Amino acid sequence: MTITNQQLFERSQQFIPGGVNSPVRAFKSVGGTPVFFQRGQGAYFWDVEGKSYIDYVGSWGPLILGHAHPAVVKVVQEAVQNGMSFGAPTAAELEMAELLCTLLPSIEQVRLVSSGTEAGMSAIRLARGFTGRSRIIKFEGCYHGHDDALLVKAGSGALTFGNPSSAGVPAETVSHTLVLDYNDVAGLEKAFSELGNEIAAVIVEPIAGNMNLIKADPEFLAVLRKLCTQHGSLLVLDEVMTGFRVGLQCAQGIYGIQPDLTILGKVIGGGMPMAAFGGRRDVMQCLAPLGPVYQAGTLSGNPVAVAAGLETLRQIQTEGFFEKLSTRTRQLTDGLVAVARKYGVRFSAQSEGGMFGIYFGENPPKTFTEVMACDREAFNRFFHAMLAEGIYFAPSSFEAGFVSSTHGDAEIEKTLNAAERVFEQGL
Ligand SMILES: *Cc1c(COP(=O)(O)O)cnc(C)c1O
Repeated sequence: MTITNQQLFERSQQFIPGGVNSPVRAFKSVGGTPVFFQRGQGAYFWDVEGKSYIDYVGSWGPLILGHAHPAVVKVVQEAVQNGMSFGAPTAAELEMAELLCTLLPSIEQVRLVSSGTEAGMSAIRLARGFTGRSRIIKFEGCYHGHDDALLVKAGSGALTFGNPSSAGVPAETVSHTLVLDYNDVAGLEKAFSELGNEIAAVIVEPIAGNMNLIKADPEFLAVLRKLCTQHGSLLVLDEVMTGFRVGLQCAQGIYGIQPDLTILGKVIGGGMPMAAFGGRRDVMQCLAPLGPVYQAGTLSGNPVAVAAGLETLRQIQTEGFFEKLSTRTRQLTDGLVAVARKYGVRFSAQSEGGMFGIYFGENPPKTFTEVMACDREAFNRFFHAMLAEGIYFAPSSFEAGFVSSTHGDAEIEKTLNAAERVFEQGL
């Protein structure tokens, strides 16, 4: 008798709030029982009942090389044997820092941390310390981790400051956070004309991946860059998801935009807990021990995580890696659109590198409001029908999807065949 997902979920709910260690895993949005996984290899993973799935979540982005990539496993095993943490500098973390500075010209200095949340929180503190200002701007629908100051949603009325989007966040904590609409150039100009000289930083996902997938208009990012420069505010690009996922130069390379600070995570840890924030040398040198902005971490630069991340970054630098990944991802999105069209389903999709969005709506959305207008119920039915077919998409219509280098023609074909059966039966 194998244990079932249902049994594990029931027991987990007794000991873990909601049965999960991160809320989206609980399937609240799509309904049903979360799948408990026990093993992954390449593009596939297996649940505790022995059922296999093609994985389009990739641990929410990090697994660009698929599960248990042999080269990554090897360096992790070697690193573990040499000691799991030193709490002191290592040559490997220097190699990681040099590599990040080489791959991203906007990064002159970088510090390693353990999660994207930590990177975002630290970048905001640093920007405030550097500028001596308190106010920050974020955009509705963008996610930068669960730092108090960033758990905020738009208030009512133009230019009102945000309301906490979580209980436990004091209103005073977010009173310095202004929430604007993504891709709204006019809103941005208005905010800067009224408050520009008080704004420490603007934090933005250059390709938003936490409200499904929305691409920034090039003009929106260009205006943002210009306004930040004019007003002495720092532009913080959140590339935790897009970094080394959409291309080797990240989203900043694709858009040709130079941020003051960048935050990274997910892919750079190769599946281990690692993230980073970095950018202008004059800004980064405000950090302790050189400067007055405090930031620290017991496990920062952890040698096992650094080994996994370095090997992952080595692998994605191989000739043609991103061309192949992009083509594969487009094969998936184009294929899904074609099948949906054949059966008259209102559906659209788009991708960038190894990251994609699927929408139950006529066209890919450009704003938070447009994302909210997509047919969530249709997505939920699609999700469960595909899950039954052994295809694992993100269990929420507000998350981007991911393809790895181990997804081949066979996996795309299996996925499209499953979609054909699902759309044919009707949602
Ligand atoms: C995942 C994510 C974060 C948070 O990273 P964690 O490691 O989960 O704390 C921040 N920003 C973006 C854009 C993300 O996708």
